[in-house]
Amino acid sequence: MNYDVLIVGAGFSGLVLAERLSSQLGKRCLVVEQRDHIGGNAWDEYDDAGVLIHTYGPHYFRTNSPRIREYLSQFTGWHPVDYRILSHTEGRYWSFPINLQTFEQMLGRPSTTEEWEKYLAAHRIAISAPANSEEVIISQVGWELYNRFFKGYTQKQWACHPKELDASVCGRIPIRTNRDDRYLSDSFQALPSGGYHRMFRKILAASPGVQVLLRTNYREVLPHVSWKQMIYTGPIDEYFDCKLGALPYRSLRFERESFSAEQLESRIPISGKRGFWQPAMQVNYPNENDFTRIVEVKHATGQSCDNTTIVREYPQAFGPGKEAYYPIPAPAPRQLYAQYAEMAATLQNVSFVGRLATYQYYNMDQVVGMALAEFDRIKKRETGNQ
Ligand code: FAD
Ligand code: UDP
Repeated sequence: MNYDVLIVGAGFSGLVLAERLSSQLGKRCLVVEQRDHIGGNAWDEYDDAGVLIHTYGPHYFRTNSPRIREYLSQFTGWHPVDYRILSHTEGRYWSFPINLQTFEQMLGRPSTTEEWEKYLAAHRIAISAPANSEEVIISQVGWELYNRFFKGYTQKQWACHPKELDASVCGRIPIRTNRDDRYLSDSFQALPSGGYHRMFRKILAASPGVQVLLRTNYREVLPHVSWKQMIYTGPIDEYFDCKLGALPYRSLRFERESFSAEQLESRIPISGKRGFWQPAMQVNYPNENDFTRIVEVKHATGQSCDNTTIVREYPQAFGPGKEAYYPIPAPAPRQLYAQYAEMAATLQNVSFVGRLATYQYYNMDQVVGMALAEFDRIKKRETGNQ
């Protein structure tokens, strides 16, 4: 069978490129996906309790880019959410990310931005250019808050010391001197109103002639198809048979638990409202537990449903049979990745797009942006137009 483009992976990057290339350039595309569903790690689904859950961990869509928002808005409406989470340690809930409310909880009384800023000025460690994830936090808030909220969580999540990780890892988390306790700071924060699964199906419905092959490793189809160009969105080291050595990844184990309305009645003093198990869509557990967070995404989806489902997230080593969820943002893996990227750049007809193919800790909007930029490049090459 002849295709113009063979797309490996049906995540955000693969599907956006399938849609653009088929609808705008009339390309015949085959998308090959090894899982039994499209959408990659951003997939969501209704579980046995009827609760809409994010299958591979919470996926909070946010962006500052009007282009990315407008592009996706062709395929979905939006349910606006101010993502709010909590941290739980020392037997109590804390406002998180760290903000004036967290400081007030530490003091046990009301305070002001001025007093909080004074505390920070007295506790932060002077580091002009933080070089790792420990420095980026202690240079903003000092040791006490770093030890309470970041050190243990980061060690669990990445199985290494925060000093060994790029500053960008813990630097993702905002630290605020006002009362703003939203987890993210982007100008647009919302979930697809019908769920990610519907949005992905709509993207495919708008992709004329695109064929999708599920439960198939692309290597199985290589002998049976011809193609002019490949878009590869899987792990870059796997593409090259780990010739230069395997890149490290971090994996996760998700443990789900569902509760009926009756079971939830006794939780009202904790959750604060009927139909929920915990008081926020996500509670982080930096210190005392083996899991890093418990997610109850029903808080964010706004689904009206008597039952609820919580998901405990346990970090685990990556290896055979485990999913490569996170590239590891650290100097040694980055160097190895750079060598793979050099090999990738010599291939004329294969593009490497997305979180695993470029070994970057990218969010969904960044991946969509990358796919749209790759489309622009292909279009320019083929038509000479912007
Ligand atoms: P993926 O979604 O990984 O898709 C790649 C696809 O390729 C997969 O479906 C895989 O099965 C398939 N594939 C790989 N190899 C092969 C092969 N050999 N043959 C066939 N198919 C193959 N982003 C946010 O913006 N907000 C969040 O809150 C957020 N939370 C996250 C939480 C977790 C736990 C994780 C892991 C990620 C989170 N992300 C979040 C990031 C988000 O998941 C990614 O940015 C996005 O899904 C990446 O899309 P992708 O297409 O590059 O990769
Ligand atoms: N982090 C932490 N404590 C927290 C939340 C995050 O130390 O309570 C650190 C941790 O290293 C984590 C990183 O900040 O991996 C990024 O957190 P985020 O919630 O953005 O991670 P993701 O949702 O991508 O797993």
